Amino acid sequence: MEKTLVILKPDAVKRAMVGEIIKRFESVGLKIVASKMLVVNDDLATKHYPKDRKEFITGMGKKTLENYKEMGVNPHDEMGTDDPHKIGLAIREWLVKYITSGPVLAIVLEGPHAVELVRKIVGHTLPLKAAPGTIRGDLAFDSSYLANTVKRAIKNLVHASGSVEEAKFEIALWFKPEDICSYKRVDEDEMIK
Ligand code: GDP
Ligand code: MG
Repeated sequence: MEKTLVILKPDAVKRAMVGEIIKRFESVGLKIVASKMLVVNDDLATKHYPKDRKEFITGMGKKTLENYKEMGVNPHDEMGTDDPHKIGLAIREWLVKYITSGPVLAIVLEGPHAVELVRKIVGHTLPLKAAPGTIRGDLAFDSSYLANTVKRAIKNLVHASGSVEEAKFEIALWFKPEDICSYKRVDEDEMIK
């Protein structure tokens, strides 16, 4: 059993996609054990997207470089550098703006392999690359190129913890232990035993 954090980002809320998205997690058998709607402040946004998590910052830069390469775009022309860390730091600033730009719905989901299962249902970071059937693949079309051109984060509707370790850190950041509920779904025994 694992728990994972999902955040329906401001574009998901503003586009009225909340029900459509939550339905997909419930349908696969994941259990909602906590949820709240809030407008994220800079303090929480900065902690959620830490500047000093080098692999996360560089990872975002690498996604940009891959997307640019496929599109034949020169990263120097668009971002002034081809250093994935520097590109990642610029994206992080846009991300903080994005996550604080309107109400979000934060949810903790629980189930077997919850972290991996949620990432599969959510799909690739770039909606352009996300497979049909995934949330990002079915409900959005954004790319690094589109987003970077107007200096904003990729609008991909949801955040989902990337690993069990990240999930533990993020759940503790967003929720108090007493906010997490414990109950049994009626289909739980049928699906697990
Ligand atoms: P995720 O775990 O799939 O959400 O991806 P990351 O943790 O690598 O990135 C966090 C968020 O940053 C993504 O969900 C996007 O909103 C944004 N992002 C990632 N890569 C890029 C990029 O290349 N360009 C822009 N503009 N935003 C990006
Ligand atoms: Mg991530």
